[in-house]
Amino acid sequence: MPQSMLKFVSLTRQTPDRRPAGERTSDFAEIYQRFDPDRAEKQSSRCSQCGIPFCQVHCPLHNNIPDWLKLTAENRLEEAYELSAATNTFPEICGRICPHDRLCEGNCVIEQSGHGTVTIGAVETFITETAFAEGWVKAPLPARELDQSVGIIGGGPAGLSAADALRRRGYQVHIYDRHDRIGGLLVYGIPSFKLDKSLVRRRIALLEEAGIVLHRNTDIGVDGDVTFDELRRRHDAILIATGVYKARDIKLPGVGLANILPALDYLIASNRVGLGDTVAAFQDGTMNAADKNVVVLGAGDTAMDCVRTAARQGAKSVTCLYRRDKANMPGSRREVEYAEEEGVHFTMLAQPEAFIGDEVVSAVRAGRIHLGVADATGRQTPEMIEGSSFNVEADLVIKALGFDPEDIPQMFDAPGLAVTRWGTVKANFRTRMTELDGVFAAGDIVRGASLVVWAIRDGLDAADQMARYLQARAAPANANAKREAVA
Ligand code: FAD
Ligand code: SF4
Ligand code: SF4
Repeated sequence: MPQSMLKFVSLTRQTPDRRPAGERTSDFAEIYQRFDPDRAEKQSSRCSQCGIPFCQVHCPLHNNIPDWLKLTAENRLEEAYELSAATNTFPEICGRICPHDRLCEGNCVIEQSGHGTVTIGAVETFITETAFAEGWVKAPLPARELDQSVGIIGGGPAGLSAADALRRRGYQVHIYDRHDRIGGLLVYGIPSFKLDKSLVRRRIALLEEAGIVLHRNTDIGVDGDVTFDELRRRHDAILIATGVYKARDIKLPGVGLANILPALDYLIASNRVGLGDTVAAFQDGTMNAADKNVVVLGAGDTAMDCVRTAARQGAKSVTCLYRRDKANMPGSRREVEYAEEEGVHFTMLAQPEAFIGDEVVSAVRAGRIHLGVADATGRQTPEMIEGSSFNVEADLVIKALGFDPEDIPQMFDAPGLAVTRWGTVKANFRTRMTELDGVFAAGDIVRGASLVVWAIRDGLDAADQMARYLQARAAPANANAKREAVA
């Protein structure tokens, strides 16, 4: 075992410096500084180089974490970057926004033995940021061009990772997105205090440099700019990577009052303002939490993004209302901790009963909850305690209750496109192909609302299968070149 490693006994765990809560709520900048080279080296050297690295097992991309930690500890950063980029299309993004505590770091062996996990995410970010600064990150240029083309519907992480992998193989790649900016939820969902938007722009520029054609403001569907059938005629294969966008709603008295907003509308407006756009609904105050009492319903990662955005917009008070307790919160523990530091108040074991107000909401009436017996999934069932109602003052209510897929077969006028009972697109687990020949699917639209790292994994897996499909259909003259490209 090299001497550079196994330092977890003598070196304590350190994260990069976190800006003080008071300072970070005054802007939308990322909350963590970056590791400097010395700290990155030292923190990497804490890894015990496990024979069975559970960090890697629990990373959806199976990143070769122990090896790139060792290379970082030895200051062999270019090799560390090559290794890290070999399995992850966007390591600097995952390093920042993966819920590490549930994935790689949460399963680190030295964490399990009480020494504190290796700070894997921060090292991953450090490696790739160093690679960008040193000019080691290159556009995914192909070694040779192939004639066949693919159309990718959706420019989120699933579509982008597939595009990158297919372009490297030489295919002509076109991404179609209904938004004016490519990036999906990386741009319009996730706030910039978690992921600075310049990082997404930097990646998109590399994809464009590689010859990937981006069709912005292009909605695919019967009511859109290009029909699905037309897209199938244009390309040899299609990838559906449209994400899930139908916000779950709540049916309660008063839900139609003004200033009760879906979470994503609120976050998109905030992200657009941060990007310099003029957003009428923000300027007229509707989507701005400044000086308001804000109540956010839900407790997942989207809810945490809403409460923390409201805190930064200068809300008078921010309350997160959740019907279970802290132990049962679905989101990342880390995000909850940051929200608490930033002054967000959590009202647990409380369920909304009605929205009160005269045209505009002024309060949420909620009832206290008792967690009853566990249901079939093992989670305790929330039961309302009679006569326990109370009001929470609210000038703005944000509903962060999760997302379902849109009706894709109807949107694409493709009744043959089979969906599951949850409305997600059915894709063969092995071939990633849907019920329609040459049409593949990846990301949240297959999996349901999930994580960026899973979208990347799905995009890469779909790209592998699309390449196989295209190779099998390639004209004989190109077959050899194509076979090499796929290998
Ligand atoms: P998306 O990112 O949703 O991209 C789909 C794209 O398809 C969009 O750009 C959309 O405009 C486009 N599109 C849809 N329909 C059409 C059409 N008909 N025509 C043309 N274009 C279309 N995950 C994490 O790992 N960490 C986090 O911190 C995190 N925070 C999140 C915060 C919020 C508020 C939300 C909502 C999600 C968060 N997630 C997070 C989840 C993560 O963003 C998603 O799992 C991931 O983006 C899914 O990738 P995707 O490519 O499948 O879809
Ligand atoms: Fe951890 Fe995510 Fe990086 Fe995998 S991609 S090593 S889970 S931070
Ligand atoms: Fe290193 Fe932890 Fe992974 Fe083991 S589980 S290889 S100690 S990072």
